[in-house]
Amino acid sequence: MGIQWQRAVTLAAWWAQGVHVARCYHRLVGREFWAADQWREFQADSLRQLVRHCYENVPFYRDRFDACRVRPQDIRGPEDLLRIPVLTKEEARANIERLLARNIPRRRLKPTTTSGSTGKPLTLYTDARVSEYTEAGMWRDFVRCGWEPGEKVAGTWGQRPLGSLPRRWMHAVCDRVAGIVYLDAWCAGEREFEQWLAKLKAQRPTVLVCFPSMGSRLARWLMDRQEAVPGIKGVFTTAERLYEYDRDVLAQAFGCRVFDFYGSQEVRHVACQCEKGQMHIFPDMVVVETGEPDELGHPPLILTGLVNWAMPFLRYQVGDSGSLKQGRCDCGRESPLMELQITRLSDVFRFPNGKEYPGQYFIHSFSRAGFEGVELFQFHQDQPDHIWLRVVKGRKFSPETGQRLEALVREIEEQIERQARVELAYSDGIDQTASGKHCFARSNVTKPPASAAADPRRGKDGKP
Ligand SMILES: [Zn+2]
Repeated sequence: MGIQWQRAVTLAAWWAQGVHVARCYHRLVGREFWAADQWREFQADSLRQLVRHCYENVPFYRDRFDACRVRPQDIRGPEDLLRIPVLTKEEARANIERLLARNIPRRRLKPTTTSGSTGKPLTLYTDARVSEYTEAGMWRDFVRCGWEPGEKVAGTWGQRPLGSLPRRWMHAVCDRVAGIVYLDAWCAGEREFEQWLAKLKAQRPTVLVCFPSMGSRLARWLMDRQEAVPGIKGVFTTAERLYEYDRDVLAQAFGCRVFDFYGSQEVRHVACQCEKGQMHIFPDMVVVETGEPDELGHPPLILTGLVNWAMPFLRYQVGDSGSLKQGRCDCGRESPLMELQITRLSDVFRFPNGKEYPGQYFIHSFSRAGFEGVELFQFHQDQPDHIWLRVVKGRKFSPETGQRLEALVREIEEQIERQARVELAYSDGIDQTASGKHCFARSNVTKPPASAAADPRRGKDGKP
């Protein structure tokens, strides 16, 4: 099927669902090289409209604005947002009904549940406009690598919802129509990679979308076998932190640039890297602010989504961290820049002596050591005084790799002042989260363990 034909079929399929992707795409792509002033003006105007809508139609915000004595006209631009309190995940979860706009009929709303890999799942609602911007927004990102509408996109997403056979069949048809080459990331291993390779060679997508952990495993597997997937113009990574070594291996295996993309279920398009490797915010989709740094020095990201009017997220603390970056990019785009850290709070490791370490600390120790022959790893703190280091062996795993892992374990135990035992375990696979994301460092220890220092009933000297 030719590109033009595929494009027409895809657009027709969306149009049948009441979603006008083409119209939206042309609008979005036309903004790529807007001047900084143009962006500022557009964003401030979109924000004013959203705030007015929230006050008039969304009960939760009406009450919130009244409680802090803010009128919609007081918010003239992003700088005035500080007058409104931040919306936490817990608040959103407890107020789902009151966060829905009353002027949008319920039958037009589509529920989605966030993956919950970073905490408890949250159900949120979107409408056709959100679908339109989500799809067209992806297209705008893909254009950065030279992709053209109508070309196929391959994605390693999580498990497809199981269901009746007709339902699964319908999904397969929809993917085909939309030009999506679906690679099931659930429990991917040797056999699946072989199937994926055959699929990629047969269907020839030009873009690959993947989680960095999964994509780089596939990339290493391809390089080990001296296999290549011809025709990929760009790899887009998302949902996990992209480490330099994963970026390098992806670029090498697929022979193209890697673009890191940032978005969440609540606010779909936040930022995407350009060909110069800078992460540009989409001011027509979101206002990005940062809050006070947490105890580990990471500023939380606060997002105001400008597209979803059905269930608006105004100053939402999404659970990731990052910072805004000054200066201009050489690529010619004048949209603002940011840097992403994504150190989710649930990934903080807490120990009986009251000390806390970001999960990144463990990941860095591991990657600094650079283990050849390790296919996948995960640090998992299941008890305050116990951490699993799970390792999936790759082809090049040698006895020496094993010895170096043992040494790393001892080094980490030393670093964390022997507060926990690190236990090395080899396994055939590591459970992915339901969405297929890999979690490199997770902890079940959510509250600081009771200790002399942390117990509020005790005095500063530790005595009751
Ligand atoms: Zn740029």
